[in-house]
Amino acid sequence: MTGYRDRERLAELWSAEVDLFRAARPESEKLWRAATRHLPDGVPMLWMAKWPGPWPVYVRSALGAHFTDVDGIDHVDLCLGDTGAMCGHAPAASVRAISEQLAKGSTFMLPTEDAAVAAELLTERFGVPSWQFTLSATDANRSLIRYARQVTGRRKILVHDYCYHGSVDEAFATLDDTGAVVERRGNIGAPVPPSETTMVVPFNDVAALEAALSTGEVAAMLIEPALTNIGIVLPDDGYHDAVRELCTRFGVILIIDETHTISAGPGGMTTTWGLSPDAVVVGKSIGGGIPAGAFGMSAELAERARRSLELEDIDVGGVGGTLAGNALSLAGVRATLSEVLTADAFVGMTARATEWTAGVQAVLDEFAVPWQVTQLGARAEYSFRATPPRDGAEAAAADDFELQQYLHLHALNRGILITPFHNMALMCPVTTTADVERHSLAFREAVSSLYA
Ligand code: PMP
Repeated sequence: MTGYRDRERLAELWSAEVDLFRAARPESEKLWRAATRHLPDGVPMLWMAKWPGPWPVYVRSALGAHFTDVDGIDHVDLCLGDTGAMCGHAPAASVRAISEQLAKGSTFMLPTEDAAVAAELLTERFGVPSWQFTLSATDANRSLIRYARQVTGRRKILVHDYCYHGSVDEAFATLDDTGAVVERRGNIGAPVPPSETTMVVPFNDVAALEAALSTGEVAAMLIEPALTNIGIVLPDDGYHDAVRELCTRFGVILIIDETHTISAGPGGMTTTWGLSPDAVVVGKSIGGGIPAGAFGMSAELAERARRSLELEDIDVGGVGGTLAGNALSLAGVRATLSEVLTADAFVGMTARATEWTAGVQAVLDEFAVPWQVTQLGARAEYSFRATPPRDGAEAAAADDFELQQYLHLHALNRGILITPFHNMALMCPVTTTADVERHSLAFREAVSSLYA
């Protein structure tokens, strides 16, 4: 166990950072106090209350890799809306395309020319040729789960232990100490026990996967190709070959959720690592900052799904939504993929993440701190354990919420935003080396306060 032992020191450091925060953010405090009248915890979506510090930071405006809060403080944004703004804030090409479409009407329940262009761009990147659009990655996952059940006639979905795929009921399952499937901690109002809908295997565990799939009960395996929601956990050599082979052998639809792992490159890990899914999910970033998600299917899956549906019932079938595939989203996707999140942009983003990783590693080495840092293209994350985790349970065991909150608040007080719920940093196309160095410097100061 490599946990931080001097809890008294941590508590003192935390309280000093809270004082700093209070003194520097009076305008945020005012807005937050007013907001608490009609918003639970003063926020429009409860996750926003999970930031470190006594109240949330209110944003005035943002551009590129920076935002300014209502107290006039400039921040390097390494959170980027937890990937929703991976293209940078207000990217010019996306803003132009979205604004033009907005002025021409935004939602018709009819297609616009942008839809087919966006689908072609996604096909070029991810290989699978048949696409549908949603408003979120969650909904894209939900749609594919339904199609998978529909075409296989099977009920169960298989996920990795400690996965996250959005607010998808089937995915809030984890393994207990005996290896049984149980509800994940914090699961709100589960419709049925997850063991009825879900099988769970540890990441990188081929034997467990084979045992689960061989039951013949699994419709789809829904996975991130690397875990990114419990720290970053990379696949072992050969793991994805085994996943593909087993899914094929047992007739299971392999869904790869690239919502976060798109950080690996323009076509996510699917292209960078040469994977062959039956279906791909993307979301968050692809609209240039406005709601857009998508799912792509192999020709075979698309054909099976389409054949199983009656158009007469399609609007009440559980896939799709009134605003899904709207003209505004599609204008955003087309512009963002063709002009912002380009192959060239990924070269710079990945280089910045490599610098960030090296900056963190140098500090860990200097102070002999037993933490590790893992990079996945434009994204990197450190965790409080000495070696890279091989599965979600190992990664979860290294959690230290108080330590994390301290590091985040320390960074925030120095104008650096780290993704909440993670120790993760994401680079956008205009993140600079100077932005990264600002983090390295602050991180050194924080680690030194803990370990020097
Ligand atoms: N899939 C993955 C891998 C994610 O990390 C997330 C969100 N963190 C989602 C899906 C869901 O995205 P959204 O909340 O935008 O629907």
